[in-house]
Amino acid sequence: MRRYLIAGNWKMNTDRSTGVALATAIAEQAADLKDVDLLVCPPSIYLAPVAQALAGKAVALGAQNMYFEDNGAFTGEVSSAMLTDVGAEYVILGHSERRHILGETDQDVNKKTLKALAAGIAPIVCVGEKLEEREAGETAAVNRRQFEAAFEGVTAEQATSVVIAYEPVWAIGTGKVATPEQAEEVHADLRQLLTDRYNAEIAGQVRILYGGSMKPGNAAELMAQPNVDGGLIGGAALKAEDFIGIAKAAG
Ligand code: PEP
Repeated sequence: MRRYLIAGNWKMNTDRSTGVALATAIAEQAADLKDVDLLVCPPSIYLAPVAQALAGKAVALGAQNMYFEDNGAFTGEVSSAMLTDVGAEYVILGHSERRHILGETDQDVNKKTLKALAAGIAPIVCVGEKLEEREAGETAAVNRRQFEAAFEGVTAEQATSVVIAYEPVWAIGTGKVATPEQAEEVHADLRQLLTDRYNAEIAGQVRILYGGSMKPGNAAELMAQPNVDGGLIGGAALKAEDFIGIAKAAG
């Protein structure tokens, strides 16, 4: 019922030529993959050339962030209309680096989520606990708080367009991956929160990705979990073979 989604978060990496080359290589190697959706999220400044490289290819384009206002005096920000204009279909929102390094709040993530949905862009809403929160037994509460805040005002009709990414902060870029059981426990909680907020049918359609040091070698066991519907990939998204290797593990 849910198609796997493998999403590459390139973060502040690549330049115009390496970004285009990476997208082109992924699109070439993706040609045989049928049961998985692929997405790349380059830096905003390279969305347009990467969009050109992906024209007519089976790899979608997403952004790593956007602002919640339509236009105006917001120096350095990018609007939902600008993302649509360059062909972005998804946007990553509330990534832990934005929350914890750049000060993004739960309320910011909610405003951005509502704006993306209104613009027809699928938000990938990231949630996840820090190591000290896990050690203090606060994992479920933190993920619940971030989930509830992000989904405030999201209608049942809109909810199925949202993708959730569970990214334990202690696993991002650290090489420490959550065990399949740790991931499944949080994913099942998130699915239950969706059921409580909407209903089981809607909850059953929402894709919940795992993110945090996912690699070709650990992707299959993570995605074998019933509530893990793909991955949000950082480091391993920067090499086409690794990214495709993860995508193959989904199929
Ligand atoms: C991410 O940044 O979303 C991420 C999961 O990074 P990594 O795969 O490098 O841990």
